[in-house]
Amino acid sequence: MNDIQWYFPKTLEEVQPHLKRDGVKLHGGGTWILRGSMRGIKGLVDLGKLELHSFRKDSQTVEMGAGMTYAETIRSMTTINPDHILVKALQHAASTPLRNIITLGGTIFSFPVWSDLMGPLIALDADVVLMGERSEAYSITEYVKSSALRKESLITHVRFKNIGWNAYYYREVKTSFDYPAFTITILLKKNKNLIEDTRIVVVGCAGKFSRVKKIEDYLKGKTTDSLEIDGIAQTHELKFTKKRSLEPAYLEHCAGVQIERSISELTRG
Ligand SMILES: Cc1cc2nc3c(=O)[nH]c(=O)nc-3n(C[C@H](O)[C@H](O)[C@H](O)COP(=O)(O)OP(=O)(O)OC[C@H]3O[C@@H](n4cnc5c(N)ncnc54)[C@H](O)[C@@H]3O)c2cc1C
Repeated sequence: MNDIQWYFPKTLEEVQPHLKRDGVKLHGGGTWILRGSMRGIKGLVDLGKLELHSFRKDSQTVEMGAGMTYAETIRSMTTINPDHILVKALQHAASTPLRNIITLGGTIFSFPVWSDLMGPLIALDADVVLMGERSEAYSITEYVKSSALRKESLITHVRFKNIGWNAYYYREVKTSFDYPAFTITILLKKNKNLIEDTRIVVVGCAGKFSRVKKIEDYLKGKTTDSLEIDGIAQTHELKFTKKRSLEPAYLEHCAGVQIERSISELTRG
């Protein structure tokens, strides 16, 4: 294996020159980097000493540093709402030791198809704050679709509106410690029994993720007691590719069944 030079910047300014260097990678939790080939990696920039663990909230916005781990995120978000979608999603991700090292920034950059973070962030319509080639905030969907934005940039923060959504999260797994075949995130804003707004995101389908717009549109403006949930998922239009010996048609069927069950749980209690 090639010799790897480690760098331990203490300020964001010290990271800047590394962003453009060939073969030099940022290191958050390192769990994705270790999974891949180390060939071609000449240097790793440890982000652990940077001020990227801040957590700020007010009545409008929540902002989290990209260096926050899954475990830190769960602890911080629990202070706002123990039933927050990020708490529900991340508490079952990977394992306790891994939740202590996996970072928000490393996950957003790498976006594994089994990610438990990305569905909630996409549903929350989060913004990603960058430093480097592009020092601005971008919507998370724009960021994940644009290789230009991901190039030579450090994610410093992620932020989203502090809205009191009702939330439901589902992981399609065979055992509790398993990469999910897909995940479902559902957010619902209710005024008494009127559904004012909803967001449904599936991660792990073809194209990596999808908003389930047809079902969102069906739910919006309806009262929970007027919903016809049975068969609602026949309109989901989600496509899957074969994964881990599971056929696309089977995954499409499972996603439909679980979307219906999730909506039923959220609307009927
Ligand atoms: C056995 C195992 C099981 C797992 N199970 C799950 C699971 O069930 N659910 C789940 O959600 N995740 C799971 N994960 C984690 C997931 O697979 C990724 O490894 C993880 O999300 C990557 O985060 P990281 O902080 O370790 O990133 P790193 O490995 O540090 O970095 C990943 C990439 O992002 C870049 N990067 C890092 N930080 C930044 C930044 N701030 N700005 C820009 N680029 C950056 C790096 O250069 C690298 O290219 C599992 C991991 C393992 C090893």
